[in-house]
Amino acid sequence: MKVIEKYNDSLHNPYWKYQLGPEAYEVKDTPKRVECIKNALRSDEAFEFLTSKRFPERLISRIHPYYDYIRLTAGSLGDQEEFYPDLFPGEGANRKKKVDEPLWGGIWCTDAVTPIKKKTFEVARASAETALTGAELIREGREKAVYALCRPSGHHAGPRVFGGYCYFNNAATAAEYLLSKGKVAIVDIDYHHGNGTQEFFEEKKSVFTASVHCDPGGEYPYFWGYAEEKGKGQAVGTNHNEPLPKGSDAAQYVKALGRIIRNIRDFNPAYLVISAGFDTHKDDPIGGFRLETEDYGEIGAQFASLGVPVLVCQEGGYNLDVLGQCVKNFLGGLTGST
Ligand SMILES: [Zn+2]
Repeated sequence: MKVIEKYNDSLHNPYWKYQLGPEAYEVKDTPKRVECIKNALRSDEAFEFLTSKRFPERLISRIHPYYDYIRLTAGSLGDQEEFYPDLFPGEGANRKKKVDEPLWGGIWCTDAVTPIKKKTFEVARASAETALTGAELIREGREKAVYALCRPSGHHAGPRVFGGYCYFNNAATAAEYLLSKGKVAIVDIDYHHGNGTQEFFEEKKSVFTASVHCDPGGEYPYFWGYAEEKGKGQAVGTNHNEPLPKGSDAAQYVKALGRIIRNIRDFNPAYLVISAGFDTHKDDPIGGFRLETEDYGEIGAQFASLGVPVLVCQEGGYNLDVLGQCVKNFLGGLTGST
């Protein structure tokens, strides 16, 4: 299996500690996360590493209206500076869509906890290109399953606003690229609902979006991810949310995922994109499920049963002691090598 690694991963090392909604968070999105995963995969020669390619900017900017805002704001900052928006104009955002001043950050972002730093644009673009590199291999029929080691994550970044430590939506960028060759299903298995991904495609019937995650009634992203969100307009029926209670275990998780898999089989996609977060593990510092390291093999195998070419995009997962093995077990199950 091909593993796509970023060409500039070490430039991104944010740390957040804050109160958001009812929860206190402490998140370290460190390059060590990627090192743990690579170390685990390197121990198995089934995994072959490739460095991500550059792609035309347009493939990313065309679906992210805040692309230039992030680029220009990052470009205006010094080495140690970071910018957080503090003005959120609500409906006023529709009157003035400026991209060239940090003051207008609240137009483009859902929260005041996702900073822009000097290298943010560069690393976020590279993360999307990591997904595109994998998508290209799948679209050309050269590979049946590819793992894109994206960082930062992308699934909270939407078609109007970014946030939740996500800047550009890697899975959505890849899905848009794959769509020219056939229908796409995206399944988000991160602990947090993939609100950005859902919003990207909720009116598009050629993309089936699904997410199994913690009930947003008490967990980020709070305002999206409920079971009644089933798509809009002509695309009603092409979004499937499976919110689970905090404390859920593998049995509950596998059952919920099984319901999603059945719907995807009916949808009959040409390609599958998985937003793979591992903050569902019982020892994850910000997650609240009870999945064990061994459970991820079975979860991967559930997707394998679809028999569809698949791109896996890395999302969350913050316990450095288990993250690598969780990814390895998942990919093993997905490719039938364990
Ligand atoms: Zn997450």
